[in-house]
Amino acid sequence: MNTILQQLHLVHDRITAAAISCDRHPDAVQLLAVSKTKPAADVLSAYQAGQRQFGENYVQEALDKIAALTTDCPNICWHLIGPLQSNKTRQVAETFDWVQSVDRLKIAERLSAQRPSNLEPLNICLQVNISQEANKSGLSPSEAETLAQKIAALPGLCLRGLMAIPEATDNSERLKTQLLELRQLFDRMTEKHPTMDTLSMGMSNDLELAVACGSTLVRVGTAIFGSRNV
Ligand SMILES: *Cc1c(COP(=O)(O)O)cnc(C)c1O
Repeated sequence: MNTILQQLHLVHDRITAAAISCDRHPDAVQLLAVSKTKPAADVLSAYQAGQRQFGENYVQEALDKIAALTTDCPNICWHLIGPLQSNKTRQVAETFDWVQSVDRLKIAERLSAQRPSNLEPLNICLQVNISQEANKSGLSPSEAETLAQKIAALPGLCLRGLMAIPEATDNSERLKTQLLELRQLFDRMTEKHPTMDTLSMGMSNDLELAVACGSTLVRVGTAIFGSRNV
């Protein structure tokens, strides 16, 4: 039995049920499979089960997997969802399809300048620190609006949306308040930026709530691949 296949089915069932229970179309919510710490063989299993979008946190680990899988997975789509330092932007601009963790103009400018001209513009989400935790990366809502204006002018990038990692809390009311705040920011920003169509929020433990709050892309690791290898 292929557990990854079964787990993927369960996650799709959860997304569908969550969407239906808030009157959204299940196709309005996409699944990003977060494969950090997992071997290329696990990504291949998920790909063979029909999964196409994968998220990675660590650039070097991702580059190794991307190289190992190019032949077997021609239609795979890679998202960087972890922090990005300036000295890694070139490799990322050359190999990824999306970067969801942009929170500085300097990084965005480098990615735009380094995106090869034979590739489509690199898809970008701005990372927002919705819980306003001091030790966490991400922009405040007003910083996100300012950065979005500047990114919209960069030719190598396409501004697609917002990403957030909410506070790790068991308090679902608190979590809901934060997710809805991100949703409101997203709705406000899409009026100015028509290329924005992606609200990336929700993980293994909170995807139902995120879907109810308007997520269009849930990022799921543990519920597909099992607990992390360290
Ligand atoms: C690891 C990670 C996820 C997946 O979390 P799970 O709880 O394993 O589903 C999603 N988003 C980001 C940014 C992550 O780092």
